[in-house]
Amino acid sequence: MDLFEYQARDLFAKHGVPVLAGEVVDTPEAARGAAERLGGRAVVKAQVKIGGRGKAGGVKLAADPDDAVAKAGQILGMDIKGHEVRKVMLAQTADIAEEYYVSYLLDRANRTFLAMASVEGGMDIEQVAATKPEALAKIPVDAIQGVDKDKAREIVAAAEFPQDVADQIADVLVTLWKAFVAEDALLVEVNPLIKSGDGRVIALDAKVSLDANADFRQPDHAALEDKAAADPLEAAAKAKGLNYVKLDGEVGIIGNGAGLVMSTLDVVAYAGERHGSVKPANFLDIGGGASAEVMANGLEIILGDPSVKSVFVNVFGGITACDAVANGIVKALELLKSKGEDVTKPLVVRLDGNNAEEGRRILTEANHPLVEQVDTMDGAAERAAELAAAK
Ligand code: GDP
Ligand code: MN
Repeated sequence: MDLFEYQARDLFAKHGVPVLAGEVVDTPEAARGAAERLGGRAVVKAQVKIGGRGKAGGVKLAADPDDAVAKAGQILGMDIKGHEVRKVMLAQTADIAEEYYVSYLLDRANRTFLAMASVEGGMDIEQVAATKPEALAKIPVDAIQGVDKDKAREIVAAAEFPQDVADQIADVLVTLWKAFVAEDALLVEVNPLIKSGDGRVIALDAKVSLDANADFRQPDHAALEDKAAADPLEAAAKAKGLNYVKLDGEVGIIGNGAGLVMSTLDVVAYAGERHGSVKPANFLDIGGGASAEVMANGLEIILGDPSVKSVFVNVFGGITACDAVANGIVKALELLKSKGEDVTKPLVVRLDGNNAEEGRRILTEANHPLVEQVDTMDGAAERAAELAAAK
């Protein structure tokens, strides 16, 4: 999960990384009080989860509280690379003498962590990496050893930070590593890390990406989620504990096992090319224990997606046998009906594997008008695509 700058800045402050005071607001008028509390002058910064806000006009200096209201009014509602600005952060202004870059990230390709640092901060670091790779130091960081003062000095030396700020930057690097580990982050980036006119090193921008796999031991992180931006279907699925990802097609997909669901998306996409370019509408893995309740929850989410025209239930019976899944489908349809939900979209079901024959018999017997069985995965994908295209 990527954080907004103001959230990342709060985490930095919590762990002792030097930042300037700031407040976040969502109306121009609220910017007045914030600017007053910050001493009048303030920098007004768009809060969007995308870089390059400065260049896009999303970072503006305000001379006084009135000007802060005006600048907040210009920035709120702006579209920055497809991201609508709904909040701005007002921060104390800094007198910038130099702009540097530092970050830690998980380097998957090399199975290690990586520190990156450069004296050429402030601008697009991708551009520095591409045009002047020697100006961007990259130092592997061992997960167990981490960054102590010695390691920090090694990074400072590799990036050739000036002598007068070397000590301060080394301290920032040690603290930033502590924040990176304590918060289970995948990325912490400071661009720019500045030297102010009076020689202080301060993080002027903050970018943090948290590892969702660690949510179980990071109870505070749930509050950082941007509820306004979350897809409502994904949010509903998450509340029901389902592994669901919304896609932009028309064929709803339910399967058991992530690998099977992934390949189901592929066969439906291929079949869709022959039927008016219909595509999979979602990823949904109901896992091993496909109980009636889980099936009902899954169907409810998928049928609640207005772009879904047909549903493909693709199950390979393993530990959970197909007869249990078939009973799950029948009960799920009854459950939805008893809840007053009007199920009108056709379901194509393919059952294979453990107890497939018994599963098919159960569905045949139930004889639900919307349920159609096809024996093979390719055949079922073809039929589901055809039904979606016909709607
Ligand atoms: P980004 O463009 O999205 O990375 O946003 P940043 O927070 O990095 O801001 C972009 C640029 O605005 C920085 O590199 C600084 O040059 C400038 N900037 C940000 N805050 C201040 C400030 O308080 N004072 C001054 N003078 N410039 C600032
Ligand atoms: Mn920046």
